[in-house]
Amino acid sequence: MELDDHAEELASDLGVDKQEVSSDLEDLLQYSVPIDEAKQSIRRKHGSGWGGGGQPESVDIAAVSTDHDNVTVTATVLTVGTRSIQYQGEEAVIREGELADESDRISYTAWQDFGFETGDELKIGNAGVREWEGAPELNLGESTSVAMADESITTDANTTLGGDRHLSALEPGDRGRNIEVQVLEAESTVIDGRDGETEIVEGVLGDESGRLPFTDWDPRSDIEADASLRVEDVYIREFRGVPSVNLTEFTQVSTLTDPVAAKSGAPRVSIADAIESGGRFDIEVVGTILDIRDGSGLIERCPECGRAIQNGQCREHGGVDGTDDLRVKAILDDGTDTVTAILDHDLTTEIYGGGLDAAREAARDAMDKEVVSQEIAQSLVGGSYRIRGKLSVDDYGANLDVTEFQPADDDPADRAQTVLDQLEQPAADGGVPPDATRGGESR
Ligand SMILES: [Zn+2]
Repeated sequence: MELDDHAEELASDLGVDKQEVSSDLEDLLQYSVPIDEAKQSIRRKHGSGWGGGGQPESVDIAAVSTDHDNVTVTATVLTVGTRSIQYQGEEAVIREGELADESDRISYTAWQDFGFETGDELKIGNAGVREWEGAPELNLGESTSVAMADESITTDANTTLGGDRHLSALEPGDRGRNIEVQVLEAESTVIDGRDGETEIVEGVLGDESGRLPFTDWDPRSDIEADASLRVEDVYIREFRGVPSVNLTEFTQVSTLTDPVAAKSGAPRVSIADAIESGGRFDIEVVGTILDIRDGSGLIERCPECGRAIQNGQCREHGGVDGTDDLRVKAILDDGTDTVTAILDHDLTTEIYGGGLDAAREAARDAMDKEVVSQEIAQSLVGGSYRIRGKLSVDDYGANLDVTEFQPADDDPADRAQTVLDQLEQPAADGGVPPDATRGGESR
């Protein structure tokens, strides 16, 4: 096709002056822009991303890549979540969720309400492709067309239609999810939000699969401790190192007649799997304590920020008059990986067999604070423990904030596992494996 023919076609598609299109095309081609791309760009300029011969390629979802600018897909709507976000300084209400065809699933963001619902089978023309959380995502905007598909769509048998999930299956980035939960804790707080002081409710939700923290950004009275609720249209983001459930003004909450029984124990996992998942709110691991890290025993904290300090120096607040505290940072190994288990004042008191006064007295007698952590190390190192807590991973390593701590030896299954773990460890090493240092130094 000659340049003139391209211009003719574009001008007639777009209903604009052929002379103008022709000169735009020439400009673009001068900069070595390929003809198809040049035509797309002119269509965009005139507010029509597609139409006529310029309709973008129809592709299977599995074939969508960030190399595409625009695509056309035929897919089933798996989920629709609604959220209000700040976009270029303005509040925008978006729809977001997942689409699927036979080949794969893909997430989408719709910048206007196309009116489609979960289960709808659609032909989506001229969706933009952008990268989101390391994967391609479809953007449905002004120049996107949405119509009912004229063929029926088969999706993979493992694809779940709708947003219903157990808490243990939720991951940061999930949107349009529905959960049935028992409220385990709920507390109202005031934060300094983007619209000034805002009341929110924070707490913990539980179902038969586990527990997760939540934030309700539009507090409603149904959310109170012990309530059993169906909560529709929540999104999940990472907060303080673990997945967190977010309720918005678009979230619908209804009371369930059959109460949900939250699981009382935490799921038992391997340390490697927990680290791989990037953070877990409530897990149980069983392993051997290899060593006690520096900063254990009788420590001092900054009275301003609570950080552990050394020689009266806080890295944030400089010279301060520290307050005493007790803590243990133990390196726990279960044969798959290691984690730094952090025990707070109360758990440390239990293990040490005395509180701050006893620790201070021991330190005075020995004229050395280290005696406290040495004594704790003597009782813990080499032992097997079952530890429950919150695992978070940051640049400094993996930390387990311990909520429950007990010897594992009372359970034959634990003992068997511990023996197995020890067999897997390098023989005759007798010390801390090199990778034991991956535990955190961050707090
Ligand atoms: Zn400080």
